[in-house]
Amino acid sequence: MANPILVFCEQRDGHLKKAGLEALGQACRLSKAGGRDVVALVVGSSVSPLTQEPASHGASRIVIAEDPALSSYSSELFTTIVADLAAGLKPVAILMGATAMGKDLATKVAARLKSAVIQDCVALEMEADGSLIATRPIYGGKLRAVVKPTNPLMQVVTLRPNIFSLLESKPASDVPIERLAVSFDGTRPMARIRDARATADDKKELTEASIIVSGGRGLKGPDNFILLEELAAALGAAVGASRAVVDAGWRPHRDQIGLTGKTVSPQLYIACGISGAIQHQAGMSSARTIVAINNNPNAPIFKLATYGIVGDLFEIVPLLTEEVKNL
Ligand code: FAD
Repeated sequence: MANPILVFCEQRDGHLKKAGLEALGQACRLSKAGGRDVVALVVGSSVSPLTQEPASHGASRIVIAEDPALSSYSSELFTTIVADLAAGLKPVAILMGATAMGKDLATKVAARLKSAVIQDCVALEMEADGSLIATRPIYGGKLRAVVKPTNPLMQVVTLRPNIFSLLESKPASDVPIERLAVSFDGTRPMARIRDARATADDKKELTEASIIVSGGRGLKGPDNFILLEELAAALGAAVGASRAVVDAGWRPHRDQIGLTGKTVSPQLYIACGISGAIQHQAGMSSARTIVAINNNPNAPIFKLATYGIVGDLFEIVPLLTEEVKNL
């Protein structure tokens, strides 16, 4: 049997992250050519109820690692789980979402396995011998590097969220589920999370949102973001921001998109009053459709935009909101 593909299906608070299921979808597509199994790994303190989702999203086998010590993410413990499983399984590739957790875990698993790591891929192919050919944006998205690890075994790859599609969910009842005998073999976490406090709001996470309405200095002040909040509410979108407005204290840093903020890949990105500096583009250029609203026809954002609206956002955004509400 050909070496399998291992997918780390990240979960948080009892929910599987979409980014992990997207990695699973891509693993299933890659596995078809080589007739490989796709093994989904779910790690946490109480993950037994989460096996159905990877099964219905194409996994041919599910492995769960359940232990109270795994209730929150620990680089050391999670690395031990993934690397030990991989050492026995000898997968051609280990895939995960390029989330904060995925990016951290990938580097450590690769270091432990002495294998290659390719972060934040936007395209991924596999040759017959299992060698991966991965495409990843570099230099803030100005170039795309095509990377091929020299050893086609245990190649660790993170996939940018919202780029790879989910496999259509189908009921699956006969997928084998294996419970890993969790052993940390002397591994001790370097730090423990003693307390995690949710912020007061229940805002949509930008990196997972399929629609983002984003605002820049053209909004003129923090109070005017209400216009974007209203449009976002009508669209079911998240609200993002440029660094200029975060630096000005109009929005919190977690809303910042760009080189020194978050990287997002939504289906639709609506940039309002954002000039489109290269550092901002670095975080959003892989959005599928970009709509720019700016009163300066020469703003760089228009070079990137799928659709451009030259005009005053204070007129256009409320009109858009009304139109969306009437749909
Ligand atoms: P501006 O460049 O001031 O643009 C405002 C835009 O609003 C203009 O194009 C203007 O025409 C338009 N406008 C004004 N009034 C209206 C109106 N009424 N209707 C419609 N449009 C209007 N930036 C990021 O965003 N993210 C990053 O992560 C980031 N990282 C950086 C890292 C480094 C090392 C450096 C040096 C810079 C970084 N920057 C980043 C900053 C970046 O270079 C820009 O300064 C910033 O993106 C500009 O933000 P802005 O587009 O909101 O503001």
